[in-house]
Amino acid sequence: MAPAERITVIRRLAEIYAGRSKEMAALISNEIGAPIGFAQRAQVGLPTVMMAAFSDLAENYPWQQDRAGFYGAPVRIRKEPVGVVGAIVPWNMPQFLTIGKLVPALLAGCTVVVKPSPESTLDALLLGEILAELDLPPGVVSIVPGDAVTGAALAGHPGVDKISFTGSTAAGRAVAASCAPNLTKVSLELGGKSAGIVLDDADPQTVAAAISSASLSNSGQICNALTRILVPQHRAGEFVDALAAQMSTLTVGDPSDKATRVGPLVSARQQQRVRGYITEGQQAGARLVVGGAEMPRGLDTGWYVRPTLFADATNDMSIAREEIFGPVLTVISYRDVHDAVAIANDSDYGLAGAVFTADTDRGVAVAERVRTGTFGVNQGYTMDPFAPFGGVKGSGYGRELGPEGLEGYLDSKSIAVAQ
Ligand code: NAD
Repeated sequence: MAPAERITVIRRLAEIYAGRSKEMAALISNEIGAPIGFAQRAQVGLPTVMMAAFSDLAENYPWQQDRAGFYGAPVRIRKEPVGVVGAIVPWNMPQFLTIGKLVPALLAGCTVVVKPSPESTLDALLLGEILAELDLPPGVVSIVPGDAVTGAALAGHPGVDKISFTGSTAAGRAVAASCAPNLTKVSLELGGKSAGIVLDDADPQTVAAAISSASLSNSGQICNALTRILVPQHRAGEFVDALAAQMSTLTVGDPSDKATRVGPLVSARQQQRVRGYITEGQQAGARLVVGGAEMPRGLDTGWYVRPTLFADATNDMSIAREEIFGPVLTVISYRDVHDAVAIANDSDYGLAGAVFTADTDRGVAVAERVRTGTFGVNQGYTMDPFAPFGGVKGSGYGRELGPEGLEGYLDSKSIAVAQ
């Protein structure tokens, strides 16, 4: 199909998808325990926005250009699909991450094999039902449920041209190794341990509200959450108090209830893992301000974890170095801005980050010094569908979203004609 035909298909997909959005949000909430408000707004709202944004980008994209070559003769540059794409996705934002790969890949002219996570297979199958209404040629999109073994088989398959992977850093390393023998292209969107740097001129209440929304949505199971909160030593008490007050107001409970802000985690294994980190933080000497490893008050079943705040932590503790993927925040104090930037950069990860300040110029100067793929000033980084998203260091390589996201599924071919 020509690019214009592909765009028509994706615009039609967006219409059909919008008609099933309520059903999709309820299904994801049931499947992974995402609070229903978040499921409607983000889990299903964002994929709908992505389809529109990628279609607009594709409409304005230079699919073919004639360029003056160095030797005087023109060269034609064609953007061609990379071929067969394997899309391997995690469970935490299953539709957003699937659509963020599937839609640009289809717009680029690729065919796609989607491998959803075992924890979130049902929403992938509902997407399959929606896609079936498009009457695409057989094999353009395949959905292959399975676990890590299925994912590894896809990544190592010689018929696959590109793997687009989102998941943990450990699995990302294994995927890159599976891709190596066939020189399969690979992009890796991996974990994070992002720093929220609070400058000494920031307002504690505003910062606490912004961090709570950036870090505890989806019950803290978001890759770009700000989970290391860096506060100035001389005002640490004020920021910790404001965060503690904010976290204590979060309603923990039934994810199908609109008032719920923190639902159960995705699985018993994840609950155990997060509680394990809380215990480790206490043992390492961090001060538990809010929460703890016991069940939340009033709930005795379900995979819940109390929203938990640690203060007086140091950057060498496991609660500051490792991705917890639950509602747990760690506050570390710094001496001056240089120290704050050094602590933010002292991480195996480099996905996201943010700075909070009354002075935007000061904020942007800090943003430029932190080594991550994305950064927010006075907000957790809000993904913009026209801007690239991705990480550096242990957070992976490659970019999704924006024109860069589309280009991830394209190869450039140069055609020179003898004069
Ligand atoms: P995971 O790495 O366990 O699994 C992710 C996907 O990879 C699943 O579909 C899984 O079946 C598959 N998989 C696992 N091992 C594999 C292997 N060896 N070969 C091929 N496929 C394999 O991650 P998860 O627990 O499902 O998701 C949480 C992780 O995802 C967190 O680390 C989080 O930060 C990360 N994440 C990153 C982003 C981002 O954009 N950077 C977004 C969301 C989630």
